[in-house]
Amino acid sequence: MSGRSSFAAHTYRVDAVVLRTHKLGEADRIITLLSSERGQIRAVAKGVRRTSSKFGGRLEPFMVSDLQLVSGRTLDIISQAVTKSPYGQSIAAHYDRYTVATAMAETAEKLTDADAESAGAQYRLLVGALGALARGEHAAELILDSYLLRALATAGWAASFDACARCGTEGPHSAFSAALGGAVCHDCRPPGSPSPAVQTMSLLAALLSGNWSVADNSEPAHRREAAGLVASFVQWHLERNVRSLRLVERN
Ligand SMILES: [Zn+2]
Repeated sequence: MSGRSSFAAHTYRVDAVVLRTHKLGEADRIITLLSSERGQIRAVAKGVRRTSSKFGGRLEPFMVSDLQLVSGRTLDIISQAVTKSPYGQSIAAHYDRYTVATAMAETAEKLTDADAESAGAQYRLLVGALGALARGEHAAELILDSYLLRALATAGWAASFDACARCGTEGPHSAFSAALGGAVCHDCRPPGSPSPAVQTMSLLAALLSGNWSVADNSEPAHRREAAGLVASFVQWHLERNVRSLRLVERN
C-alpha cells in the first residue's frame, strides 16, 4: 500500500493550455503550460517529436487538454494527454489567428509567471479568447485587444475609458495616458498625451467589457487607433516588450 500512495503523491492531473514549446534533445520537447489548478507548469513531453508519438498533435501550442503529469526533480513529465479543445489546428491554419494567439500566449505567460493567485482566472480568460479565435467569432485583432485589456484587468491593472483614470471625474474625456491608466481629464492629462477619437474610446470600453455588438461594428480607423493605445498600455504595465505583438498584422 505504501508504494501505491507514494506513486499517487507524485502523479497529478490538470486542465491546461499549451503556451509554447521548445525542442529538447533528439525527440523531446519542453512544454510551457498554463493550468487552471496550478498556474504555470514547465514539463517534458518525451518522444513527442517522433511521428509515432502517443501524443500526436495534442501538445502543440494553443491546444487545451486534460493532462496527467509525474513530478520530477527539476521538470515534471507529461504522461498522458486527452484533448479537450483542439484550438491549435484551426489557429495554425490562419496566419492572422496564429500571430494573435502567439501574442496572447506570451502575455499570459508573463502575467502568470509570478502571480499564481490569478492563474485560474487567467486560464479561463485565455481559453475563452482562443476559442473565439479558433471559431472566427470576431476579427482576430479585436479578440486580441479585448483579451489584452481583460488580462491586464485580471492582473490588477484595469484601464478606465470613461471616468478619468487619475481623479475619477466622469467622462467622456478626450485624452489617453497609458501611464495613468486610460482616459484622463483636461486637468490630469500629461503634456503630449494622445487625443483619440470619441469612437475609439467607446471601442476600447466595449473591448474591455465584452460589448461585441459595438466592437464588431467599429470602423477600421478606430480599430487601428485603439490597437495602438492598447499596445502602449500593455507595454507600460508589463515593462517588458511583448515581442509577438509586433508580428500581429494590423490592417
Ligand atoms: Zn482627472
